[in-house]
Amino acid sequence: MERAELIEKQIKLSPCKSPKRFIQTGLIYPSDAELELIDDTIKTKDRCQMTYSLIKSYGLLNRLHIHRVDLCPANAMSLAHSPHYLLALQKSKDEKFDEEFGLAYDCPPRNDLLERASLIAGTSLTAARLLIEKKRKIVLNWCGGWHHAFEKKATGFCYINDIVIAIKTLQTFSKKILYIDLDLHHGDAVETYFKNSEVLTISVHHYAVGFFPGTGGPNDTDKATFAVNIPLPEQVGDVDWVSLTKYSLKKAFSVYNPDFVVCQAGGDALFNDPHKSLRITQQGYLDIIQYLISTSCPLLILGGGGYNVPATAKLWTRITALCSYIKIPDELPDEDEFYLEYFPDTSLKESTTSETAKKVCVEDYAAITKHIDEVFENITRFYKEKSPLKRLAKPAFRAKRRKLCFENE
Ligand SMILES: [Zn+2]
Repeated sequence: MERAELIEKQIKLSPCKSPKRFIQTGLIYPSDAELELIDDTIKTKDRCQMTYSLIKSYGLLNRLHIHRVDLCPANAMSLAHSPHYLLALQKSKDEKFDEEFGLAYDCPPRNDLLERASLIAGTSLTAARLLIEKKRKIVLNWCGGWHHAFEKKATGFCYINDIVIAIKTLQTFSKKILYIDLDLHHGDAVETYFKNSEVLTISVHHYAVGFFPGTGGPNDTDKATFAVNIPLPEQVGDVDWVSLTKYSLKKAFSVYNPDFVVCQAGGDALFNDPHKSLRITQQGYLDIIQYLISTSCPLLILGGGGYNVPATAKLWTRITALCSYIKIPDELPDEDEFYLEYFPDTSLKESTTSETAKKVCVEDYAAITKHIDEVFENITRFYKEKSPLKRLAKPAFRAKRRKLCFENE
Protein backbone atom coordinates (compact mmCIF):
# COMPACT_ATOMS: atom_id res chain seq x y z
CA MET A 1 0.00 0.00 0.00
CA GLU A 2 1.28 3.48 -0.88
CA ARG A 3 2.35 5.50 2.12
CA ALA A 4 -0.13 8.34 1.43
CA GLU A 5 -2.92 5.76 1.30
CA LEU A 6 -1.71 4.21 4.53
CA ILE A 7 -1.71 7.59 6.30
CA GLU A 8 -5.21 8.34 4.99
CA LYS A 9 -6.40 4.92 6.23
CA GLN A 10 -4.91 5.52 9.68
CA ILE A 11 -6.59 8.90 9.86
CA LYS A 12 -9.94 7.34 8.99
CA LEU A 13 -9.44 4.83 11.80
CA SER A 14 -8.78 7.64 14.31
CA PRO A 15 -11.23 7.80 17.19
CA CYS A 16 -12.60 11.13 16.11
CA LYS A 17 -13.83 11.11 12.55
CA SER A 18 -15.47 14.50 12.57
CA PRO A 19 -13.47 17.07 10.61
CA LYS A 20 -14.98 19.74 12.82
CA ARG A 21 -13.00 18.57 15.83
CA PHE A 22 -9.68 19.74 14.46
CA ILE A 23 -10.96 22.83 12.78
CA GLN A 24 -10.07 24.95 15.82
CA THR A 25 -6.44 23.88 16.13
CA GLY A 26 -3.88 26.17 14.55
CA LEU A 27 -0.18 25.78 13.89
CA ILE A 28 2.21 28.69 13.64
CA TYR A 29 4.24 27.81 10.56
CA PRO A 30 7.04 30.23 9.63
CA SER A 31 8.33 30.27 6.05
CA ASP A 32 11.31 28.04 5.17
CA ALA A 33 13.68 31.04 5.31
CA GLU A 34 12.30 32.06 8.71
CA LEU A 35 12.65 28.51 10.08
CA GLU A 36 16.25 28.46 8.92
CA LEU A 37 16.92 31.81 10.61
CA ILE A 38 15.29 30.67 13.87
CA ASP A 39 17.34 27.44 13.87
CA ASP A 40 20.48 29.46 13.27
CA THR A 41 19.61 31.76 16.19
CA ILE A 42 18.71 29.16 18.79
CA LYS A 43 21.69 26.90 18.12
CA THR A 44 19.84 23.60 18.13
CA LYS A 45 20.81 22.34 14.71
CA ASP A 46 17.84 22.13 12.33
CA ARG A 47 15.39 21.45 15.17
CA CYS A 48 12.53 23.67 13.98
CA GLN A 49 13.09 22.61 10.37
CA MET A 50 13.05 18.93 11.34
CA THR A 51 9.92 19.30 13.46
CA TYR A 52 7.90 21.14 10.83
CA SER A 53 9.17 18.82 8.10
CA LEU A 54 7.99 15.75 10.05
CA ILE A 55 4.60 17.34 10.76
CA LYS A 56 4.32 18.05 7.02
CA SER A 57 5.47 14.56 5.98
CA TYR A 58 2.79 12.99 8.17
CA GLY A 59 0.15 14.98 6.30
CA LEU A 60 -0.84 16.91 9.43
CA LEU A 61 -0.85 20.25 7.62
CA ASN A 62 -4.07 19.17 5.93
CA ARG A 63 -5.66 18.70 9.35
CA LEU A 64 -4.65 22.00 10.93
CA HIS A 65 -5.00 25.68 10.23
CA ILE A 66 -1.64 27.06 9.17
CA HIS A 67 -0.68 30.57 10.22
CA ARG A 68 2.27 32.58 8.97
CA VAL A 69 4.11 34.85 11.39
CA ASP A 70 3.56 38.56 11.96
CA LEU A 71 6.83 40.07 13.14
CA CYS A 72 6.70 41.44 16.68
CA PRO A 73 6.72 45.25 16.66
CA ALA A 74 8.99 47.19 19.05
CA ASN A 75 6.11 48.21 21.33
CA ALA A 76 5.16 44.55 21.87
CA MET A 77 8.78 43.57 22.59
CA SER A 78 8.74 46.30 25.23
CA LEU A 79 6.11 44.25 27.08
CA ALA A 80 8.94 41.95 28.17
CA HIS A 81 12.18 43.90 27.80
CA SER A 82 13.67 47.25 28.79
CA PRO A 83 14.51 49.83 26.09
CA HIS A 84 18.21 49.51 26.99
CA TYR A 85 18.16 45.74 26.48
CA LEU A 86 16.41 46.07 23.12
CA LEU A 87 19.02 48.66 22.13
CA ALA A 88 21.77 46.21 23.11
CA LEU A 89 20.17 43.59 20.85
CA GLN A 90 20.11 46.10 18.04
CA LYS A 91 23.73 47.08 18.57
CA SER A 92 24.87 43.48 18.82
CA LYS A 93 25.27 43.42 15.07
CA ASP A 94 28.64 44.97 15.81
CA GLU A 95 29.39 41.56 17.37
CA LYS A 96 30.68 43.09 20.58
CA PHE A 97 30.21 41.11 23.75
CA ASP A 98 28.01 42.89 26.21
CA GLU A 99 28.01 40.99 29.47
CA GLU A 100 25.85 43.61 31.16
CA PHE A 101 22.93 42.36 29.09
CA GLY A 102 24.01 38.72 29.06
CA LEU A 103 25.12 38.87 25.43
CA ALA A 104 28.02 36.49 25.92
CA TYR A 105 28.77 32.79 26.40
CA ASP A 106 25.56 30.82 25.66
CA CYS A 107 23.85 33.94 24.26
CA PRO A 108 26.58 35.41 22.02
CA PRO A 109 26.00 38.59 20.03
CA ARG A 110 24.79 37.92 16.49
CA ASN A 111 24.10 39.79 13.30
CA ASP A 112 20.59 41.23 13.11
CA LEU A 113 19.77 40.07 16.61
CA LEU A 114 16.86 42.48 17.07
CA GLU A 115 15.29 41.25 13.81
CA ARG A 116 15.80 37.63 14.87
CA ALA A 117 14.21 38.40 18.26
CA SER A 118 11.30 40.12 16.52
CA LEU A 119 10.70 36.99 14.43
CA ILE A 120 10.83 34.60 17.41
CA ALA A 121 8.62 36.87 19.53
CA GLY A 122 6.31 37.26 16.53
CA THR A 123 5.59 33.52 16.44
CA SER A 124 4.10 33.57 19.94
CA LEU A 125 2.49 36.98 19.53
CA THR A 126 0.67 35.72 16.41
CA ALA A 127 -0.45 32.65 18.36
CA ALA A 128 -1.77 34.71 21.29
CA ARG A 129 -3.75 36.96 18.95
CA LEU A 130 -5.44 33.93 17.37
CA LEU A 131 -6.70 32.87 20.82
CA ILE A 132 -7.85 36.34 21.78
CA GLU A 133 -9.66 36.77 18.48
CA LYS A 134 -11.29 33.38 19.16
CA LYS A 135 -10.16 32.08 15.81
CA ARG A 136 -8.58 28.99 17.38
CA LYS A 137 -9.07 26.92 20.53
CA ILE A 138 -5.56 25.43 20.49
CA VAL A 139 -2.50 27.01 18.89
CA LEU A 140 0.87 25.24 18.57
CA ASN A 141 4.12 27.13 18.08
CA TRP A 142 7.27 25.01 18.09
CA CYS A 143 9.49 28.08 17.56
CA GLY A 144 8.56 29.64 20.91
CA GLY A 145 9.12 28.86 24.58
CA TRP A 146 12.22 30.91 25.53
CA HIS A 147 11.60 31.00 29.26
CA HIS A 148 15.01 32.19 30.55
CA ALA A 149 15.20 35.65 28.93
CA PHE A 150 14.85 38.37 31.60
CA GLU A 151 13.76 41.98 31.24
CA LYS A 152 17.34 43.19 30.98
CA LYS A 153 19.32 40.02 30.40
CA ALA A 154 19.71 37.15 27.94
CA THR A 155 20.47 33.78 29.57
CA GLY A 156 20.32 30.06 28.81
CA PHE A 157 20.17 30.39 24.98
CA CYS A 158 17.19 32.78 25.33
CA TYR A 159 17.43 36.28 23.85
CA ILE A 160 13.76 37.20 23.88
CA ASN A 161 10.97 36.13 26.20
CA ASP A 162 8.22 35.35 23.71
CA ILE A 163 6.22 33.69 26.51
CA VAL A 164 5.92 36.89 28.51
CA ILE A 165 4.93 38.80 25.38
CA ALA A 166 2.24 36.19 24.61
CA ILE A 167 0.89 36.15 28.18
CA LYS A 168 0.83 39.96 28.42
CA THR A 169 -1.05 40.02 25.12
CA LEU A 170 -3.57 37.48 26.46
CA GLN A 171 -3.91 39.66 29.56
CA THR A 172 -5.58 42.34 27.49
CA PHE A 173 -8.53 39.92 27.52
CA SER A 174 -8.24 38.28 30.94
CA LYS A 175 -5.93 38.40 33.96
CA LYS A 176 -6.44 34.72 34.77
CA ILE A 177 -3.80 32.90 32.81
CA LEU A 178 -2.18 29.62 33.76
CA TYR A 179 1.40 29.08 32.63
CA ILE A 180 2.63 25.48 32.89
CA ASP A 181 6.32 24.84 32.21
CA LEU A 182 7.30 21.21 31.41
CA ASP A 183 10.92 21.98 30.45
CA LEU A 184 13.75 20.23 32.30
CA HIS A 185 14.85 23.64 33.63
CA HIS A 186 12.98 25.96 36.00
CA GLY A 187 10.88 28.60 34.19
CA ASP A 188 12.71 31.30 36.12
CA ALA A 189 12.21 34.42 33.99
CA VAL A 190 8.48 33.84 33.41
CA GLU A 191 7.92 33.29 37.14
CA THR A 192 9.87 36.47 37.94
CA TYR A 193 7.96 38.59 35.42
CA PHE A 194 4.59 37.65 36.88
CA LYS A 195 5.57 37.56 40.53
CA ASN A 196 3.27 40.47 41.38
CA SER A 197 0.37 39.57 39.14
CA GLU A 198 -2.51 37.13 39.00
CA VAL A 199 -0.81 34.97 36.36
CA LEU A 200 -0.41 31.51 37.87
CA THR A 201 2.92 29.91 36.99
CA ILE A 202 3.60 26.20 37.54
CA SER A 203 7.04 24.78 36.76
CA VAL A 204 7.99 21.11 37.01
CA HIS A 205 11.73 20.70 36.59
CA HIS A 206 14.93 19.08 37.74
CA TYR A 207 16.53 20.84 40.70
CA ALA A 208 19.98 20.22 42.18
CA VAL A 209 22.73 22.40 43.57
CA GLY A 210 24.71 23.79 40.64
CA PHE A 211 22.08 22.85 38.05
CA PHE A 212 20.98 25.74 35.80
CA PRO A 213 19.30 28.13 36.55
CA GLY A 214 19.60 27.33 40.27
CA THR A 215 16.11 28.55 41.21
CA GLY A 216 12.77 26.82 41.75
CA GLY A 217 14.15 24.70 44.59
CA PRO A 218 12.35 23.44 47.68
CA ASN A 219 13.80 26.14 49.91
CA ASP A 220 13.23 29.15 47.67
CA THR A 221 12.28 31.88 50.08
CA ASP A 222 11.28 34.31 47.38
CA LYS A 223 8.00 32.65 46.57
CA ALA A 224 5.15 34.54 44.97
CA THR A 225 1.47 33.98 45.76
CA PHE A 226 0.77 32.63 42.29
CA ALA A 227 3.85 30.45 41.74
CA VAL A 228 4.03 26.66 42.09
CA ASN A 229 7.36 24.88 41.81
CA ILE A 230 7.82 21.13 41.52
CA PRO A 231 11.57 20.50 41.93
CA LEU A 232 12.56 16.90 41.17
CA PRO A 233 15.78 15.00 41.83
CA GLU A 234 17.74 13.20 39.11
CA GLN A 235 16.34 10.23 37.19
CA VAL A 236 12.71 10.77 38.19
CA GLY A 237 10.39 9.22 35.60
CA ASP A 238 6.81 9.55 34.36
CA VAL A 239 5.02 8.28 37.47
CA ASP A 240 5.90 11.14 39.83
CA TRP A 241 6.36 13.78 37.09
CA VAL A 242 2.86 13.17 35.74
CA SER A 243 1.12 12.70 39.08
CA LEU A 244 2.60 15.84 40.69
CA THR A 245 2.00 17.94 37.59
CA LYS A 246 -1.59 16.73 37.29
CA TYR A 247 -2.12 17.27 41.02
CA SER A 248 -1.21 20.94 40.63
CA LEU A 249 -3.14 21.34 37.37
CA LYS A 250 -6.30 19.84 38.86
CA LYS A 251 -6.04 22.30 41.76
CA ALA A 252 -5.46 25.11 39.26
CA PHE A 253 -8.65 24.27 37.39
CA SER A 254 -10.75 23.80 40.51
CA VAL A 255 -9.46 26.72 42.56
CA TYR A 256 -8.07 29.28 40.09
CA ASN A 257 -9.95 28.38 36.89
CA PRO A 258 -7.93 30.12 34.19
CA ASP A 259 -9.28 31.69 31.03
CA PHE A 260 -6.20 30.73 29.00
CA VAL A 261 -3.44 28.14 29.40
CA VAL A 262 0.08 28.63 28.05
CA CYS A 263 2.16 25.44 28.11
CA GLN A 264 5.92 25.40 27.52
CA ALA A 265 6.64 21.84 26.36
CA GLY A 266 10.44 21.87 26.27
CA GLY A 267 11.68 18.37 25.37
CA ASP A 268 14.83 18.26 27.48
CA ALA A 269 13.14 16.33 30.29
CA LEU A 270 12.99 13.35 27.90
CA PHE A 271 15.00 10.34 29.05
CA ASN A 272 17.04 10.38 25.84
CA ASP A 273 18.01 14.07 26.03
CA PRO A 274 21.78 14.59 26.40
CA HIS A 275 21.16 16.12 29.86
CA LYS A 276 19.95 12.71 31.10
CA SER A 277 18.62 14.44 34.22
CA LEU A 278 14.98 13.31 34.18
CA ARG A 279 13.59 10.17 32.52
CA ILE A 280 10.31 11.35 31.04
CA THR A 281 8.86 9.54 28.04
CA GLN A 282 6.76 10.92 25.18
CA GLN A 283 3.74 9.35 26.89
CA GLY A 284 4.36 11.42 30.02
CA TYR A 285 4.18 14.66 28.01
CA LEU A 286 1.15 13.40 26.05
CA ASP A 287 -0.70 12.61 29.30
CA ILE A 288 -0.31 16.22 30.46
CA ILE A 289 -1.26 17.71 27.09
CA GLN A 290 -4.27 15.37 26.90
CA TYR A 291 -5.37 16.61 30.32
CA LEU A 292 -5.04 20.25 29.21
CA ILE A 293 -7.07 19.55 26.05
CA SER A 294 -9.76 17.86 28.15
CA THR A 295 -10.34 21.06 30.12
CA SER A 296 -11.50 22.86 26.94
CA CYS A 297 -9.64 25.96 28.09
CA PRO A 298 -8.07 27.90 25.18
CA LEU A 299 -4.54 26.57 24.94
CA LEU A 300 -1.23 27.84 23.59
CA ILE A 301 1.50 25.18 23.34
CA LEU A 302 5.11 26.25 22.86
CA GLY A 303 8.47 24.55 22.39
CA GLY A 304 11.53 25.33 24.51
CA GLY A 305 14.53 23.14 25.33
CA GLY A 306 15.23 19.77 23.73
CA TYR A 307 18.79 18.90 22.72
CA ASN A 308 18.23 15.44 21.28
CA VAL A 309 16.91 17.00 18.10
CA PRO A 310 15.31 13.91 16.48
CA ALA A 311 13.68 12.93 19.81
CA THR A 312 12.30 16.46 20.27
CA ALA A 313 10.98 16.58 16.69
CA LYS A 314 9.20 13.26 17.28
CA LEU A 315 7.72 14.43 20.60
CA TRP A 316 6.40 17.68 19.16
CA THR A 317 4.99 15.89 16.12
CA ARG A 318 3.08 13.51 18.40
CA ILE A 319 1.73 16.45 20.42
CA THR A 320 0.67 18.11 17.15
CA ALA A 321 -1.15 14.93 16.10
CA LEU A 322 -2.83 14.71 19.52
CA CYS A 323 -4.06 18.30 19.23
CA SER A 324 -5.36 17.49 15.75
CA TYR A 325 -7.30 14.46 17.08
CA ILE A 326 -5.45 12.18 14.68
CA LYS A 327 -3.61 8.90 15.07
CA ILE A 328 -0.57 8.65 12.81
CA PRO A 329 1.53 5.62 11.83
CA ASP A 330 4.52 4.72 13.93
CA GLU A 331 6.97 4.30 11.04
CA LEU A 332 8.44 7.68 10.04
CA PRO A 333 7.63 8.75 6.47
CA ASP A 334 10.70 7.87 4.40
CA GLU A 335 10.07 10.79 2.06
CA ASP A 336 10.82 13.18 4.92
CA GLU A 337 13.67 15.55 4.09
CA PHE A 338 15.49 14.66 7.31
CA TYR A 339 14.70 10.93 7.32
CA LEU A 340 18.34 9.88 7.58
CA GLU A 341 18.81 12.03 10.69
CA TYR A 342 16.52 9.67 12.60
CA PHE A 343 18.59 6.55 11.92
CA PRO A 344 18.74 3.99 13.36
CA ASP A 345 15.45 4.63 15.17
CA THR A 346 12.91 5.38 12.44
CA SER A 347 9.83 4.78 14.56
CA LEU A 348 7.88 7.74 15.91
CA LYS A 349 7.45 6.28 19.37
CA GLU A 350 10.77 6.06 21.14
CA SER A 351 12.15 2.65 22.01
CA THR A 352 11.58 1.97 25.65
CA THR A 353 14.50 2.29 27.98
CA SER A 354 15.75 -0.62 29.98
CA GLU A 355 17.05 1.67 32.71
CA THR A 356 14.62 2.14 35.55
CA ALA A 357 13.45 5.58 36.52
CA LYS A 358 13.57 6.62 40.17
CA LYS A 359 10.75 7.64 42.45
CA VAL A 360 10.67 10.77 44.58
CA CYS A 361 11.17 9.76 48.22
CA VAL A 362 8.07 9.84 50.42
CA GLU A 363 9.21 12.86 52.46
CA ASP A 364 10.03 14.97 49.38
CA TYR A 365 6.76 13.98 47.69
CA ALA A 366 4.83 15.07 50.78
CA ALA A 367 6.76 18.35 50.93
CA ILE A 368 5.95 19.13 47.29
CA THR A 369 2.23 18.41 47.66
CA LYS A 370 2.22 20.49 50.87
CA HIS A 371 3.76 23.40 48.95
CA ILE A 372 1.14 23.01 46.18
CA ASP A 373 -1.67 22.92 48.74
CA GLU A 374 -0.32 26.05 50.45
CA VAL A 375 -0.12 28.00 47.20
CA PHE A 376 -3.74 27.20 46.39
CA GLU A 377 -4.86 28.03 49.93
CA ASN A 378 -3.18 31.42 49.50
CA ILE A 379 -4.87 31.90 46.14
CA THR A 380 -8.25 31.07 47.70
CA ARG A 381 -7.56 33.62 50.43
CA PHE A 382 -6.44 36.23 47.88
CA TYR A 383 -9.70 36.04 45.95
CA LYS A 384 -11.83 35.93 49.10
CA GLU A 385 -10.20 39.13 50.33
CA LYS A 386 -10.44 40.73 46.91
CA SER A 387 -14.10 39.99 46.31
CA PRO A 388 -15.62 38.48 49.46
CA LEU A 389 -19.11 38.31 47.98
CA LYS A 390 -18.12 36.57 44.76
CA ARG A 391 -17.72 32.83 44.44
CA LEU A 392 -14.21 31.70 43.72
CA ALA A 393 -13.43 29.66 40.65
CA LYS A 394 -15.84 31.59 38.54
CA PRO A 395 -14.05 32.73 35.43
CA ALA A 396 -14.94 36.17 34.20
CA PHE A 397 -16.30 34.88 30.96
CA ARG A 398 -17.04 31.19 31.29
CA ALA A 399 -19.97 31.50 28.90
CA LYS A 400 -17.71 33.11 26.32
CA ARG A 401 -15.17 30.34 26.75
CA ARG A 402 -17.79 27.66 26.22
CA LYS A 403 -18.89 29.42 23.06
CA LEU A 404 -15.29 29.63 21.89
CA CYS A 405 -14.70 25.96 22.52
CA PHE A 406 -17.82 24.42 21.19
CA GLU A 407 -19.19 26.70 18.53
CA ASN A 408 -17.93 24.55 15.67
CA GLU A 409 -18.15 21.12 17.24
ZN1 LIG B 1 15.58 23.47 29.28
